[in-house]
Amino acid sequence: MDFRQLGLDPRVLRAVDDAGYTEPTPIQAAAIPVILSGKDLIGIAQTGTGKTAAFTLPLLTRLTTGHSSPGHIRALILAPTRELVVQIHENVRAYAQYLSLSVATVFGGVGEKPQIEALRRGADIIIATPGRLLDLMGRRYGNFSGIQHLVLDEADRMLDMGFLPAIRDVVRQLPKRRQTLLFSATLSREIEAVTREFLQSPQSVEIGKRSNPAETVSQSVYEVPRHLKPALLQQLLRDPALEMVLVFTRMKHGADRIARRLEQSGIRTATLHSNRSQNQRLRALSEFKGGAVRVLVATDIAARGIDVDGISHVVNFDFPPAPEDYVHRIGRTGRANAVGDAISLVSPDESNDLRALERFIHRTLPRKRLDGFDYSAPAPAASPETRRGPGPSGGRGGSPGRGPRPPGGGGGSGGSGAGPSRGGNFRPRRFR
Ligand code: AMP
Repeated sequence: MDFRQLGLDPRVLRAVDDAGYTEPTPIQAAAIPVILSGKDLIGIAQTGTGKTAAFTLPLLTRLTTGHSSPGHIRALILAPTRELVVQIHENVRAYAQYLSLSVATVFGGVGEKPQIEALRRGADIIIATPGRLLDLMGRRYGNFSGIQHLVLDEADRMLDMGFLPAIRDVVRQLPKRRQTLLFSATLSREIEAVTREFLQSPQSVEIGKRSNPAETVSQSVYEVPRHLKPALLQQLLRDPALEMVLVFTRMKHGADRIARRLEQSGIRTATLHSNRSQNQRLRALSEFKGGAVRVLVATDIAARGIDVDGISHVVNFDFPPAPEDYVHRIGRTGRANAVGDAISLVSPDESNDLRALERFIHRTLPRKRLDGFDYSAPAPAASPETRRGPGPSGGRGGSPGRGPRPPGGGGGSGGSGAGPSRGGNFRPRRFR
């Protein structure tokens, strides 16, 4: 199927071409015609399926045909987190680059002045988190009486985060005659209730179910004593195929320790966890996306929903106890139709979690060993890591000179070979 068959504005198609997309993903093929027809829509789709473009491309097309009046807002997109708002904004800006539409964002954790100004000026599209938006609406900023389109993105997460009352208060202030689109990874009873409350005779598309990353991402396991994990990670990173790497740790301080160690060995690394300020997190993400840093070390919560194109490898530095977290983590690579690799460093105390995962995905993951790596190097004698035993974070490999002996050379990691071209957030994907 070709994007040209979907009825999108030619300028939007040009932007799609620029992004390097050759064909619509299933959710796009199904949702775009419905949205263009003006109907309400429930899209059951996870991030990684191309759902942002699925609602943005037809929304932009529809906004080109209407006209904006000064001070009015025409479309409102609500999303659960600031990171997601920023990501949607980047997508919208890229897809709207040949249109003259105005776009603004509203989210907490940053100064409100520019957001108030934007609301005063009005915008064709506002992308917002519910909390800050409600706060500003409550203070009478922004004219929402001309809203024609409302998108509730990641509605299930917004409910999980307790945003339902805020969403209700926002929606109450919008015109009844509008198009409403709701996207959610799951169709729970709560989501059904929300769709009944906010949508009218919606069509639903459920083909957004992404292929299970546990089946499509190429995965491997390195069994390694806990105290050797940092050294092994460092060795694995000698392979240039690991060009854009997301490393997961269970704890924030574990993330910081790994990042410090990698930085010391000359590998540009950033961290993403909840101890970092909003600005630090956004900077870390944008440096990672832009290629300024090669490794991003993140905790599960901070990495929820992050959408970075072209992640070549996900590394589970700590193995997650919940199989769902594993599937979520490795889903950060191999997004849309791209190729990705997932590497898990599994210490003996985590082998039960590994077995639980293998039962969950009905597969035994291939075990690998890195040539030249000394798996029997002793633990540094007085390291707190070894005293703590099977603690959750790991990441302490001992001070230089006392850690494991470095192996003789690089050695393959089972990486995926050629990676995507870097630079910019919208790159052609790698296809299998
Ligand atoms: P999303 O589900 O919106 O988080 O999208 C996941 C990623 O897929 C985004 O980073 C897009 O750049 C990419 N993408 C979206 N649509 C397509 C497409 N038709 N072909 C290839 N990649 C796409």
